[in-house]
Amino acid sequence: MNHFEIRDGVMHAEGVSLEAIAAEIGTPAYVYSAATLRRHARVLREALDGHAETTDALIAFAVKANSNLSVLKVLAGEGLGADTVSEGEIRRALAAGIAPEKIVFSGVGKTDTELAFAIRTGVLEINVESAAELDRLIAVAAGLGARPDIVFRVNPRVGSGAHAKITTGAPADKFGAPVEEVMALYARAAASNHVRPVGLACHIGSQITELSPLKAAFAVLRRMTLDLRAQGFEVHRLDFGGGLGVPYFDRPGEADPVDYAAVAAEAARGLDVQLAFEPGRMIAANAGVLLTRVIHVNERPDGMRFLVLDSAMNDLMRPALYDAFHDIRPVRPREGAAGPYDVVGPVCETGDTFAKDRVLPPLEAGDLAAFMTAGAYGATMANEYNSRPLVPEVLVDGDRWAVVRARPSYDEMLAREAVAGWLIP
Ligand SMILES: *Cc1c(COP(=O)(O)O)cnc(C)c1O
Repeated sequence: MNHFEIRDGVMHAEGVSLEAIAAEIGTPAYVYSAATLRRHARVLREALDGHAETTDALIAFAVKANSNLSVLKVLAGEGLGADTVSEGEIRRALAAGIAPEKIVFSGVGKTDTELAFAIRTGVLEINVESAAELDRLIAVAAGLGARPDIVFRVNPRVGSGAHAKITTGAPADKFGAPVEEVMALYARAAASNHVRPVGLACHIGSQITELSPLKAAFAVLRRMTLDLRAQGFEVHRLDFGGGLGVPYFDRPGEADPVDYAAVAAEAARGLDVQLAFEPGRMIAANAGVLLTRVIHVNERPDGMRFLVLDSAMNDLMRPALYDAFHDIRPVRPREGAAGPYDVVGPVCETGDTFAKDRVLPPLEAGDLAAFMTAGAYGATMANEYNSRPLVPEVLVDGDRWAVVRARPSYDEMLAREAVAGWLIP
């Protein structure tokens, strides 16, 4: 699957054995495949190139899915821009060589400082989500004597996503403004000398595996475009967001990019608008694995069998946060029958459970295993809970590999903190 294959009995990332990586830098560690990142970027680009409406569309990679500088650099090399939700992400995109004109600034709660930074940077557009934000943005832009392009994020009342916590387009979600409100805000923005409303955006959720909700959301933007134009406003950009799902286990044919491009093109037909897309997961998820080692297998007298790994919820949070499924595969598969395990990490939380009653091939203490489809919302959500050093990241590119974020030493971890002066005798 996607450049992570068993070769000579051992799982490789492209041309590099995962055993070799583990031997050199230890586990847990994220391992990314540059070839897979490039392939996903190209698959989407080629699908969009299939229609006149989508040919010149901006593909702005959602940086929150995987913000490693080397990953962003690979994607920048494919011509991708960046969808960002904080000043930190804008800075990462710039550091990776992504031009400001390809950076979209999204998010529910951008601070004045962040808005000012985005304006000074000259990002392509600021996606405004509410009346309160519009007012603050106008004030910030006035202070800078600027007039940034803005796009309104609409909540089209079409929620979708694999889990309630990754649905963003339902009426009660905090994201975007309702249709009627956007119509009013558009007029207010057009009357200001300090912002230039240029279009509309939506992003209805994540891990969407059927196209009908996206189609419905795009249709809302289409209708609003026509309505706004009828009122004399200029609308020349539509940002269709991200959200396309990926197979987390072997189930082919979900949300095909070619069909997705066709749906987008149809929604934009005859409108003569610039389009933008903000894919995160579909680009990065299958381009990464979390490499881990079995600490031991705990077989209890009551028959329960726990596979205790050296990775935990702090390294890969999705199962604890969203009940997400990640396929788990041995790096060097052994002979023998598969059997059920509860797969857990060492963190002191019951939530630190990756899978219950998962039927897996035989695994023993010391074996390496890989969490598949871990390249998106993996490392970016990692933390140091239980004082576990932040999980490192590795990029593989053909036969080459490099540590692209090192595991901090314990000294480095402690050096980030200080003991308050009055506590030192
Ligand atoms: C998270 C996010 C995305 C990317 O979502 P995916 O499901 O990873 O494609 C795109 N746009 C916005 C505004 C987001 O918040």
